[in-house]
Amino acid sequence: MLLQHKQVAVVGGGPGGLTLARLLQRQGATVRVYERDRSRHERVQGGTLDLHDESGLAALRAAGLLDAFKAHYRPGADKLRLTDKHATVALSQHAEAPADTFGDAAFRPEIDRGPLRNILLDALQPGTVVWDSQLVAVQPLGAGWQLTFRGGATATADILIGADGANSKIRPFYSGVTIVEGTVYDAAQNAPRLHALTQGGKIFALDDAQTLVVSAKGDGSLTFYTGCKTPETWARDSGIDFANAAEVGAWFRQGFTGWAEIWQELFASDTTRCVPRPQYCMPPDQTWPAQPNLTLLGDAAHLMPPYAGEGVNMAMLDALELSQCLTSDQFPTVQAALAHYEQHMRQRAAAVAQETLEQTERAPARARGAGASGGAVCR
Ligand SMILES: Cc1cc2nc3c(=O)[nH]c(=O)nc-3n(C[C@H](O)[C@H](O)[C@H](O)COP(=O)(O)OP(=O)(O)OC[C@H]3O[C@@H](n4cnc5c(N)ncnc54)[C@H](O)[C@@H]3O)c2cc1C
Repeated sequence: MLLQHKQVAVVGGGPGGLTLARLLQRQGATVRVYERDRSRHERVQGGTLDLHDESGLAALRAAGLLDAFKAHYRPGADKLRLTDKHATVALSQHAEAPADTFGDAAFRPEIDRGPLRNILLDALQPGTVVWDSQLVAVQPLGAGWQLTFRGGATATADILIGADGANSKIRPFYSGVTIVEGTVYDAAQNAPRLHALTQGGKIFALDDAQTLVVSAKGDGSLTFYTGCKTPETWARDSGIDFANAAEVGAWFRQGFTGWAEIWQELFASDTTRCVPRPQYCMPPDQTWPAQPNLTLLGDAAHLMPPYAGEGVNMAMLDALELSQCLTSDQFPTVQAALAHYEQHMRQRAAAVAQETLEQTERAPARARGAGASGGAVCR
């Protein structure tokens, strides 16, 4: 095997990096994951994710973790309600009989991000993840790499995989949309009408060239994200204190003019936390020559806005395809294996990124029902 006697370093313990580590360990490779978080409990993991049969679930199947997934996914959380700004339901999947079966390409089961991460972490050999390891520098060392972490600790590796997410050194471009993401804890208490409206699933509210996605999580919270077109520096220039839910609520009231009062429940609790996230995207036509012992996966390789729900699925499929290339007998060198992986990954990600960008553009237009592109500007 190409990886015999080689130390593989994966930087970033997100879904992509952890899936890769598990898949490689199953094939006998020596892998360490260097993760910036101080421990697995450091931060609340974000909202719910739907995994797709041909990508996220395919990776879990190959990782021997489908049964663990079945024990932790949230049946019914994939049910969607589509509303307008008045929270009037235009379409609801809740009355539909569940046609849900694993193996059906149309079945997209939902799992909260925290349980997915736990499944992957628990499947790794003890000590695989080196917590509190924020990579700050990489230097060639002999035929391999020296990694330097914040605080001065170092490590060496023969093969380096960048799975460190959105802030990769490859420059993304701004997609034109900034989302404001937030969590309402104890939604039954703090947002009772929205809690009832979600019915344990998701709401997509589309109107006036703006969007609002609200998802129920298994811990009783609601996560949400707004979407509207803004200049790239809007969050910084707006002067809004995003840690202050009331301030964000005041912005929403003004920016989402005419949206019903019910949406204000998102900002009514002191415990609501919001973060502005300008949405970046890698150029779909990016290319680079394969390196002998260095590659990227997931958001680090092909960041895209979240509207198509593909990011995690692409990261996990990258992990599957990369692990297959690195553990195959088909390639004479690691570089040849990486070249094959990267060529496929780029083609696939470019197609999905293009589709996602089009959806990002279309979502507001669809909301207006007029087919026009462009959108309202958040003030
Ligand atoms: C609001 C929102 C909603 C989304 N909804 C969906 C959805 O419904 N479905 C979907 O498929 N995708 C969704 N996405 C996209 C999805 O979250 C990402 O595509 C996915 O998490 C990428 O996985 P990854 O492993 O590549 O990177 P990440 O999940 O970003 O993981 C990267 C890891 O690297 C660590 N790290 C970062 N820098 C360093 C460093 N210097 N040193 C060490 N460690 C480092 C981080 O702490 C993190 O653990 C959404 C994104 C957003 C913002």
